[in-house]
Amino acid sequence: MLGKAWRIAKIKGINVNIDPSWLIIFTLVTFSLGNFYFPKMYPQWTTFMNWLIGVITSILFFVSVLLHELAHSLVAIRQGEKVRSITLFIFGGVAQITKEPDSPGKEFLMAIAGPIGSLAIACFFFIIWIIFHTTNQPVAAIATYLSLINIILAIFNLLPGFPMDGGRILRSIIWKATHNLKRATFVASTLGRFLAFALIISGIWQIFSGNFIGGLWFVFIGWFLHNAAMVSYHQVITREMLRTLRAEDLMSPNFKKVASDITVELLIDEYLFHGHGRNFLVMDNNELKGIVCLEDIIKVSREKRRKTLVSCIMTPKEELHSVSSGDTGEVVLSQLSAKDVHQVPVIDNNIVKGIICRTDIIRILQLHHDLGI
Ligand SMILES: [Zn+2]
Repeated sequence: MLGKAWRIAKIKGINVNIDPSWLIIFTLVTFSLGNFYFPKMYPQWTTFMNWLIGVITSILFFVSVLLHELAHSLVAIRQGEKVRSITLFIFGGVAQITKEPDSPGKEFLMAIAGPIGSLAIACFFFIIWIIFHTTNQPVAAIATYLSLINIILAIFNLLPGFPMDGGRILRSIIWKATHNLKRATFVASTLGRFLAFALIISGIWQIFSGNFIGGLWFVFIGWFLHNAAMVSYHQVITREMLRTLRAEDLMSPNFKKVASDITVELLIDEYLFHGHGRNFLVMDNNELKGIVCLEDIIKVSREKRRKTLVSCIMTPKEELHSVSSGDTGEVVLSQLSAKDVHQVPVIDNNIVKGIICRTDIIRILQLHHDLGI
């Protein structure tokens, strides 16, 4: 979904990123504050003042969005989940949690943390307003806007459509009641799609009533939420499917072994070009040394292939994440995504049984899907 984001901070091991698309929304929010909102609310202010307070308010608004995501993330970490990053992008903020919560209780707490965080920020700015509203108008103006916008943020996120926070809360409640994650996700994401349609329709209505930018924005957000609801539902279905599969069903047992002391050139000529697959186990005397895959091979420039040994480009055994043949597909996938690797070896009692690539998983899921299993 996101392109290359800029890292601006690291909080408790979580990378805080800004996606380039965020600049668009930052500019829009700053513009609407500096050009419309503040001049209308405080006509006595100078243009410079409107823009200065506009920029500060806009920055603090996005800090609020970050704090909302941070609240989700810190609760997730407390629940034993791993959070990779928080990214600000055109539609707000997103926390990348490496896997979905495995119990309704966890999901409930993680989801409700964000809106509670936003309400806490609203309270904070309300207190600032109480302190300054008679003495410092600009500070009071910033505080007014931020307490209101954070309340709106909390309410909007509590709308009961998956994958918004409210939809997650709803899902956790249905999940708890029915013990059926699939059904709970179906209900919550269907509501999510309805909400998304409602946003799109109200956006179109606004466009025809003259509010072009605001209406267009509703349409975009509705479209984004609709996609997110669909994707999230499919992810759950996939995960359920992966739960029933074992590593031994996913692995290709006919992996090719290569020695660590052959050159990359030989690997290409003798193995890669002869249809022996794209991934190779590097083994010396039946002892696993590492894995080498097409991605590693591509990185070696043409001139260097002759002199570079496989041992120099492979992912060494120590860095490999292995699974055992009885592990579920879900475990396999989490191993693959946790370290962003393309394959894992399947090892039982120190013996390599097979190798699983991302593409194997996709192929088997597709097969199950096509056969209607
Ligand atoms: Zn949230």
